[in-house]
Amino acid sequence: MGGPAGSGMTALNELTLAEARDGLSAKRFSAREITQAHIDALEKARVLNAYLVETPDRALKMAEVSDEKIAKGEARPLEGLPLGIKDLFCTQGVHTTAGSKILEGFEPHYESNVSAQLWRDGAVMLGKLNLDEFAMGSSNETSAYGSVISPWRRNGSDAKLVPGGSSGGSSAAVAAHLCLGATATDTGGSIRQPAAFTGTVGIKPTYGRCSRWGIVAYASSLDQAGPIARTTRDCAILLGSMAGHDPRDTTSVDLPVPNFEAAVSRGVKGLTIGIPREYRVDGMSPEILKLWDQGAEWLKAAGATVKEISLPHTKYALPAYYIVAPAEASSNLARYDGVRYGLRVPGKDIAGMYENTRAAGFGREVKRRIMIGTYVLSAGYYDAYYVRAQRIRTLIKRDFEEAYASGVDAILTPATPSAAFGIGEKASADPVEMYLNDVFTVTVNMAGLPGISVPAGLDAQGLPLGLQLIGRPFDEETLFAASQVIEESAGRVSLPKAWWA
Ligand code: GLN
Repeated sequence: MGGPAGSGMTALNELTLAEARDGLSAKRFSAREITQAHIDALEKARVLNAYLVETPDRALKMAEVSDEKIAKGEARPLEGLPLGIKDLFCTQGVHTTAGSKILEGFEPHYESNVSAQLWRDGAVMLGKLNLDEFAMGSSNETSAYGSVISPWRRNGSDAKLVPGGSSGGSSAAVAAHLCLGATATDTGGSIRQPAAFTGTVGIKPTYGRCSRWGIVAYASSLDQAGPIARTTRDCAILLGSMAGHDPRDTTSVDLPVPNFEAAVSRGVKGLTIGIPREYRVDGMSPEILKLWDQGAEWLKAAGATVKEISLPHTKYALPAYYIVAPAEASSNLARYDGVRYGLRVPGKDIAGMYENTRAAGFGREVKRRIMIGTYVLSAGYYDAYYVRAQRIRTLIKRDFEEAYASGVDAILTPATPSAAFGIGEKASADPVEMYLNDVFTVTVNMAGLPGISVPAGLDAQGLPLGLQLIGRPFDEETLFAASQVIEESAGRVSLPKAWWA
């Protein structure tokens, strides 16, 4: 079908998730129709390399069940809404690679808790989305299955840009209308940075809000799942299904899941927003500084009080993160030995088989992280690096606690120090240049706090820029409220024309 009846000229895959939900329940179109619209769109967009696995048959079957439920008046909260799943989430019977050759051929016998809750609530699975290998990266260039290409281009240029990382398949697919929303994960920024680069909204909830069960582990004390979608409201709807206590993850917290969608329209009247002076870093684009001020003005105009705060240990966060995260990764990735999952490369004995498998199966960035992690955990260096990094982590957490104790309800910062860069521009020589992308996001993981990235405007080259809001532990609701104010003040960022189709 062409334009859906009742929704003007908007193609079904261009609706927001909330509009699609309302259109389905009003029977303006069927789950089958909106699912087919997405399948058609993603098949035309293969050049973006966003999907690693497409599951159209499964999607249409799920949509059929949804249409039956809707007909019987038994629609579940996400009934018939087509989603993409980052390929870090185990999906039962569907190839799961974590973007790595070492998991090639792996078909999990179980479903991750987060994705299971989405299916429980009636969502439709379109397929698995590309990512940096084991979620290590900021540009999707470390995927063993090739880079994702952003649907965005600079004005008057056809240079290929990165969609951010590691959830770059998720951000590109959402921005290009190849799903209504997607799952993502964030260890140091991998939800918020790709959202910022693609003009989408992404929230990393508080550590413990979503179960990590069935998500391929990168750095377990930092990893957290969350949604990327085109609006704040859509993220709130998705997080409501993804969140919740799961006894299979001992770090998942037994707290009721609030009605996040209700919080979206709460406003910010009476809230105090902190502006941390340490986030004005050298070399930051003046456009981002301007947008940051603009964001503060928008919140003020909506009734919030804005005040400067200090988070004095900010400058140590990035170096400490690049000790803690590789340390945990080196331990988590020890399980890929060719015995239990995916790839196996034979050797002259069992140790040779391990070595050959790991040498062939892991990419350069993953090997670099394993080496750094093994080094900082080794006897003699453990105290000098790992223990110190953990101490810094405590100080970073304390900075935030003090800010919140002084009456701050949320903190406003830029999401990234720059707009999206070109493929190949940063990947090559110096890995540290890539790591600098995470300067505004890693603090939040180190402290276990919730953070949301919301598009706030375009730069002079026509590329989206995002602002980040950081909240108190388990207060995602305030983030949704403030994000909505920014989204409404900035006006929805919409994509340029589909050059790939
Ligand atoms: N870019 C950061 C890293 O490579 C964060 C990645 C993530 O959040 N998964 O570690």
